Amino acid sequence: MTASIKHCKKLDRILRSTGSHWVGNGFPVQTLFAYPELGMVLSPFLLLDYAGPAEFPPTQQRLGVGEHPHRGFETVTIVYSGEVDHRDSAGGCGHIGPGDVQWMTAASGVVHEEFHGHDFAQQGGLFEMIQLWVNLPAKHKMTSPRYQTILDSQIPNVRLPDNQGSVRVIAGEYAGVTGPAQTFTPVHVWDLRLSNAHPVQIPLPEGYTAALLVLKGELHLSQVETPINHAEIAVFERQNTQLCIKQANNVTALLLCGEPIHEPITGSGPFVMNTATEIRQAINDYQSGKMGHLS
Ligand code: MN
Repeated sequence: MTASIKHCKKLDRILRSTGSHWVGNGFPVQTLFAYPELGMVLSPFLLLDYAGPAEFPPTQQRLGVGEHPHRGFETVTIVYSGEVDHRDSAGGCGHIGPGDVQWMTAASGVVHEEFHGHDFAQQGGLFEMIQLWVNLPAKHKMTSPRYQTILDSQIPNVRLPDNQGSVRVIAGEYAGVTGPAQTFTPVHVWDLRLSNAHPVQIPLPEGYTAALLVLKGELHLSQVETPINHAEIAVFERQNTQLCIKQANNVTALLLCGEPIHEPITGSGPFVMNTATEIRQAINDYQSGKMGHLS
């Protein structure tokens, strides 16, 4: 299980949030990375908002964010605790809970709303989710919107040897097992559960972006003194082919890995395109109703 250490990916940097803010009245988020600073380093991933964990009291109110647009990328919502309801102007809708994922391709443009699930809001409880923005290559930015609900039961769970834990394959492939999400460029998104890993090596493709977000527990990488803690992201250099973990007990982590898209990134609010002209067009198209409305 311990291939040569020389194949281990080197740590590039550790990302931590510098504060938190509310998205609507439902999502207290820490933005752990965003494309204006790190778009090229983390390509094809544009942004990651980590919401919660936060306790919500029971309410009759709708908590979340109402109708708003997106164009040029995909929003991926991964629920760890609580429930999320979604509805968009392309006809996509879904209700997801713990272990479920929503993979919305905004592409040419949709408006959508994101709220806490009705029953969850009424009962209250612990809310924890991630929203990840995945970029689309220029040739797919204006394709039709698409919506995928991916339920926990559809996500294959690959056990690591020696009871070290498991890898839930949301997107991409691990150890020959393919995840259900359809993507436009090669992307691996894995929900890692490391119960008792010491040491473990996880193969990753050479040349891809690779980042590991720790949601629970404390993870020690090989050859790195500083542990990776809750709400921290280890970003790796693109060279080499192994994620080398020295020790991890009861860790939940999200592994993001993808082929970089080597194209310019220009964004404004909910639109991410390649040029400023395309951003102006997106704003015009939204304002003139071309992205639709929710009825
Ligand atoms: Mn949104």
